[in-house]
Amino acid sequence: MGLSERVQKFELDASNYLLMNPMNGAIDIIPSQFLKEMPPEVEARLQARGYFLSEQGRQENLLRLRQVSQEHNQNIPYWFYVLTTLNCNFGCPICYEKKTRSNSELSHAVLDSIIERISDFQQLKGIPAERVNILLFGGEPLILSNPKVLENVLTAASQRSWKVVTVTNGSLVKHHLSIYREHRDVVSDFRVTLDGPPRVHDSRRPYINGLSSFDDVAGAIDLLLKEGFEVKMQTILGKGNLQNIEDLIGFVRVKGWLQQPHFQWRVEGSHDYANLDPARDEISEGRMVQRLIQVWEEHPELRGKLKFESFKYLGHIVRSFGWLGEYKTYFGPKLGFCEPQKGFHYVFSTDGKVYHCPRTINNPDFQLEGLMQSNPKRSSILEREGCAPCDINTLCGGGCVVQKKYYPGLDCRDYAKSVIAEFVGLMKGRILELAEPGKLVSVNELW
Ligand code: SF4
Ligand code: SF4
Repeated sequence: MGLSERVQKFELDASNYLLMNPMNGAIDIIPSQFLKEMPPEVEARLQARGYFLSEQGRQENLLRLRQVSQEHNQNIPYWFYVLTTLNCNFGCPICYEKKTRSNSELSHAVLDSIIERISDFQQLKGIPAERVNILLFGGEPLILSNPKVLENVLTAASQRSWKVVTVTNGSLVKHHLSIYREHRDVVSDFRVTLDGPPRVHDSRRPYINGLSSFDDVAGAIDLLLKEGFEVKMQTILGKGNLQNIEDLIGFVRVKGWLQQPHFQWRVEGSHDYANLDPARDEISEGRMVQRLIQVWEEHPELRGKLKFESFKYLGHIVRSFGWLGEYKTYFGPKLGFCEPQKGFHYVFSTDGKVYHCPRTINNPDFQLEGLMQSNPKRSSILEREGCAPCDINTLCGGGCVVQKKYYPGLDCRDYAKSVIAEFVGLMKGRILELAEPGKLVSVNELW
C-alpha cells in the first residue's frame, strides 16, 4: 500500500526520512528501506497514524479538526487596534508604516464611534469583556497634541471592563504616567521595542533626527517596572540583529529585568509579507526559529520570561519535537494563517476606518466595511477555494493575504513547503538524534 499523496516526505540522510501527515498532524521518522519494502508491523503502525487515509477519510477528519479548532477559538482574545496618531518621533529604517506616516490624529468624535462599534460587536457576538483588548497603536501612540484622547480611551475601557495594551517606542511614556496611574485597573501592559545592544538598536530604531534612542527606551522600561506596570519588551529579529541577541541577553541580565515579576520578553521575526526582501532585513522563519531554540536551550534563566509570537508555519513541528520545552506553540490544525485572518484582530485608523491587520493600515485594498463584514480574506482553509483541497492546508492555514496581493505570481504551496523544508534541513541533526536503525519512530501524538 502506498502512503497518501498528501504525506510530506523529507530526506534526512541516506538512511532516514521524516514523514509529516497534514491530515492529522502525525510526524514520524522512517528508515528509507521501509519506503521501498514495508514490513507488515510498520504498515499497521502507519495505518494507525493515518498515513493511508482515503479522500473520504480526509474529509471526515477535516470536519473533526474544524471542531478542534473551534474549541480552541473559544478562548482566543480579540484585539482592537486603535491608532491615536499616524505620527512618529522615530525614524526606523525598517519601519513598514513609512508610507502612512502623517500628522493625522484621532479625534474625540472618531474615538467615540470606535468605542461604540466595538461595544456593539461585543454584544452581538456575546464576547465576554475579559476577551476584549484595546491596543493603542500608531505611529507612536503617545505623541498626542491632546492627551485627553488617551484619558478617554482608558476611561471607556474601564467602564466596559476591557484591558488596554500600549504599543510604544517608550520615549514619551514619562509624560503620561499620571494618566496611566489613575487608570491602573485597565492597563494590561506596555509593549516597548528594544532591538539590540545600543549600537544595533540605534541603527534600527533611531530618533527621526538620527540621534540615539537606546537610553530613553531602556529608561522607559526601568520606569514602567518601577511603577509596577507590566512590560512586554519586544525584539524584532531580522538580519540586522540576529547575531547580536547574545549581547542583548547580557544587557537584560545586567539590568536585573529577569528578576522583575512584571517583565516579559517577546521575540518575533521581522517578516514583512508585503515586502519580502531578503536583501534588507528579512530572515526566514526557519532561521529565526532555529535561533530562538538555541537561545532557549543555552539560557535556562530566560525560560518563563521569553515569549514568542506564534510561528506561522513551524509551530506544530516545534511543539511536536518539544524544542521549546513546555512552551505552548499552537497545537492543532491551522484553519487560519494569523489572528487577523481568523477574525480576532481589527485595526482602526485615525479616521475610524477599519483595516485587516497592522500591515495594511490605510490601504484601501484591505479596508473592511465594518467589524461584522464577512470577508473571504477572513475565511478558513475549509471555505477557500484554493486551500480546501491543498495537501498542506492544515500546516499552512491559508497563507498571508497581503503576500498574495503583492506577489500575485507566488506559488503559495511551493512557498509554504519551502519554509517547512528549510527548517527540517536546519534541524536535521537534531531530528536524526531520535532516529533508530530499522525502527519507525513516532515523534508526536495525533491531533
Ligand atoms: S499553501 Fe496555498 S493553497 Fe495551501 S493552504 Fe496555504 S495558501 Fe492555501
Ligand atoms: S495578513 Fe496576517 S500574516 Fe499577513 S501581514 Fe497581516 S497579520 Fe501578517
